[in-house]
Amino acid sequence: MRVTALAGGTGAAKLLRGLAACMHPRDLTVVANTGDDAEIWGLHVSPDLDTLTYALTGRLDLARGWGAADDTFHALAAMGTLGGETWFRLGDRDLATHIFRTRALRAGVTLTGVTGTIGRALGLRIRLLPMSDDPVRTRLQTADGWASFQDYFVRGRARTQVLGIEYAGAEKATAGPAVLDAIHTANAIVVCPSNPVTSIGPILSVPGVREALAQTNAIVLAVSPIVSGAAVSGPAGDLMRACGLPVAPTGVARAYTPWVDLLVIDRGDAGYSHPILELGAEPVVGDILMTDRESEIALARLVLASVA
Ligand code: GDP
Repeated sequence: MRVTALAGGTGAAKLLRGLAACMHPRDLTVVANTGDDAEIWGLHVSPDLDTLTYALTGRLDLARGWGAADDTFHALAAMGTLGGETWFRLGDRDLATHIFRTRALRAGVTLTGVTGTIGRALGLRIRLLPMSDDPVRTRLQTADGWASFQDYFVRGRARTQVLGIEYAGAEKATAGPAVLDAIHTANAIVVCPSNPVTSIGPILSVPGVREALAQTNAIVLAVSPIVSGAAVSGPAGDLMRACGLPVAPTGVARAYTPWVDLLVIDRGDAGYSHPILELGAEPVVGDILMTDRESEIALARLVLASVA
C-alpha cells in the first residue's frame, strides 16, 4: 500500500516513525509544511522538514522535540556575545543543515531538490517533499499587528492572543513538483496529528492541494491532534479557537471536511463519534497518545488497518 502523509513537525514525527517501522519506506511519501520557514542569521531554516528528517533518521533531540540530538550551542553563545539575535535557538550541528540548504538555494537548487540531497546524505529512506518550492508564510494577526509564525511562537512564546491567520504567498504558489501526483496516486492519505491551523492549514492553502484531496481515489484518514479538549502540545487549541473551530475532534473534522473520510479520535473522546459522522467523516476510536516507540507503532498499525 502506498501512503502519502501530510505533516507538520513534532506530532507528525511520532506517527511517521511508527509508520516507517510498519511499512516499506519506498511506499511512504510525506508532504511537509513549510509555512513556518524563516530566515535566521541570513539562513533558510525549515523547522518541519528538519524535525521530520532528524526524527526519521534517529537524529532528533527527543527531549526538546526539535533540533539535533547531542547538539551544542557554541555558535549561538558567540552570536550573543556579538549582540546578534539569539531568540531562535540554532544548535551547532543543526547550523550545518541550514548553511547547506541556504547555499544550495542561492545556487538555484529548489527546496525540493536540497531536501532530497540532505535526506539522502542523512540516510532518510522515505520520500520527503516540501509542500511547495515557493515561499508560503503563515502570519498571525495580534493586537500589535501581523507577526511571522516564529515571531509569535518562538520569540513571543505563543502568549499573545491571535485574531487572524493568513498564508502569505499561497495564492501565487505552486505545489511541489511531485506533491499533487503523490496525493492522486496514493492508496491512502494520512493527515498526521499536526496543528490544523499552522501545519496542515498552509499545505491546504497551496493551490490544487484541496482539490487533489477531494478528487483522489485514496482513502483519506486524519489523526486528531486534540485529546480531551486540548492540544497534546503546542498552540493548536488557541489557534483553532481563533479560526472559530471548537477545540475538539469535531473542530478537526470541520477543518478537514469535505475531503476527510476517517478521523481517528481518542478513546476518551468516543462521545464525539456521532457529531463527527454528522460532519461527514467516519470516526475510528483508539489510543492516540504517543508517549514511546510502542505507542507510535500501535497507532501506526491502527491507521494502516483502518485504511486497508
Ligand atoms: P505546533 O502546534 O506548532 O507544535 O505544531 P505541530 O504541527 O508540529 O504539532 C504538534 C501537534 O501535534 C499538536 O497539535 C499536538 O496536539 C499534536 N500531538 C503531539 N503529540 C501528539 C500525540 O502523541 N498524539 C496526538 N494525537 N497528537 C499529538
